[in-house]
Amino acid sequence: GAERTKNVLILMSDTGGGHRASAEAIRDAFSIEFCDEYRIIVKDVWKEYTGWPLNDMERSYKFMVKHVQFWKVAIHSTSPGWIHSCYLAAIAAYYAKEVEAGLMEYKPDIIISVHPLMQHIPLWVLRWPGLQKKGVFVTVITDLVTLHGEKHWFRFHPGVNRCYCPSNEVAKRALYDGLEESQVRVFGLPIRPSFARAVLSKDDLRKELEMDPDLPAVLLMGGGEGMGPVKETAKALGESLYDKDQEKPIGQLIVICGRNKGLASTLESKEWKIPVKVRGFETQMEKLMGACDCIITKAGPGTISEALIRGLPVVLNDYIPGQEKGNVPYVVDNGAGVFTRSSSETARILAEWFSTKTDELKNALKLAQPDAVFDIVKDIHELALQLGTLANIPYVLTSSFTSLI
Ligand code: UDP
Repeated sequence: GAERTKNVLILMSDTGGGHRASAEAIRDAFSIEFCDEYRIIVKDVWKEYTGWPLNDMERSYKFMVKHVQFWKVAIHSTSPGWIHSCYLAAIAAYYAKEVEAGLMEYKPDIIISVHPLMQHIPLWVLRWPGLQKKGVFVTVITDLVTLHGEKHWFRFHPGVNRCYCPSNEVAKRALYDGLEESQVRVFGLPIRPSFARAVLSKDDLRKELEMDPDLPAVLLMGGGEGMGPVKETAKALGESLYDKDQEKPIGQLIVICGRNKGLASTLESKEWKIPVKVRGFETQMEKLMGACDCIITKAGPGTISEALIRGLPVVLNDYIPGQEKGNVPYVVDNGAGVFTRSSSETARILAEWFSTKTDELKNALKLAQPDAVFDIVKDIHELALQLGTLANIPYVLTSSFTSLI
């Protein structure tokens, strides 16, 4: 029928954890599945802000990531009653203001939050008179597993219409936090359709990327920021993938430095005995993964899920304490890869995979669910049909809600 186009507001923040990739995955799946039925707005709730104390979240996030000890302290000291910390309260207040602005500007029928730490705030905002009863509010959790024990770094909010969990472990946690089974769905992590549905031939990709057509290839990366022991690992691989007796390489290396320009220039200036390609921030990661046989990465949920869809065996060489720690056993216990922080150990494993243990490459598991993102948007569509939308609700928000925090 001639239904009105519905507005979908996706709230995300580009602070790692694959939030942007997941938000974009959901946006793309909506337009593939429902064409013009939905208008999708992805709002990065940190981007526009310029004032103290959050004047550069991306930078402070990078700072925290680099200063791992500090990050650890921040998580452990804030996880039990995270909102009582000044720092997080300030973030929460700011986020609430941005959410309100998003509601006023875009008048969404459906709100999707992909930011795990802040799923409470949109609900606080929506609780203003008249706003709560009708409408669809869902959260998409992008962490593959939560931390064991009582201390996990975010709490699930029972006020959501749906909470999409990437794994059963996360769903268990959601139920433990008070969600009903009817609210929880486990479809898998949303991966960009360009990735999930890519039909790419390895031979063609290697030609396009100017790689050696025959040598086994390893992809080395460290998330969007090029973090973790990328440099050391690249150097170690440069040695271990060279057969000294035969005087020829047994493999080739692709290093993705992401936004880490320093890393890229260091690696570019090095002399290599094996074929090496050093690349910056890639916009078509599906091609790079499609051209390689295995991957070395920090335990980022986005990268892991994409690698698992491609069936690439994974070497995890680092994780961000707190949020990424649980991804390590997720990969290792499911037989999809190994974990080591030692660059020389990584280099040794790769040399083995490319010489005596080539079966490891062939028998890689495909753990991820490429259709997860489509299952999610279809479910949201159903939910919207059942519950009606926020459309007929007047947006009478005040700005005094921040006093709640
Ligand atoms: N990514 C990309 N281009 C790059 C580096 C990374 O598109 O050059 C993507 C990668 O495919 C993944 C996301 O960025 O989807 C990284 O997410 P992850 O959860 O692995 O780590 P984060 O960077 O969020 O800590």
